Amino acid sequence: MIAPVRPTLGTLVRRALLRRCPRCGAGGIWQSYLRMKHACPTCGQVFERGESHDFFIGAYLINLVVAELAAVLVAAAMWITLGSRVSFNVLWGASMVLAVVMPVIFYPFSRELWLAFDLHFRPTEAGDMG
Ligand SMILES: [Zn+2]
Repeated sequence: MIAPVRPTLGTLVRRALLRRCPRCGAGGIWQSYLRMKHACPTCGQVFERGESHDFFIGAYLINLVVAELAAVLVAAAMWITLGSRVSFNVLWGASMVLAVVMPVIFYPFSRELWLAFDLHFRPTEAGDMG
């Protein structure tokens, strides 16, 4: 019997960042920008894995940390590069806009990254296939 191919963590993360199925690399796993299909149409991997509807809580944490960190880093970069040529209100406004917009933009990537990490540490099991 041939052991199934198990993608490396780097491959899983690369596929996730390309918004493809982390398990098989196929595209078409999103119904819309923010809505993931139930399972991969190519390999059948179910995306809500075994822990009912709260599987993606880890994705929300990844999303929150990355998005809010991006807002702070952009404001810090603007402050460092522009110094006193930009007012505090502009920096504050830019970081507030990013704090609201970034979680929406990054949402699909955080879901896929969470799935990629989960597949790395807990490979596909019986019951994961749709
Ligand atoms: Zn797949």
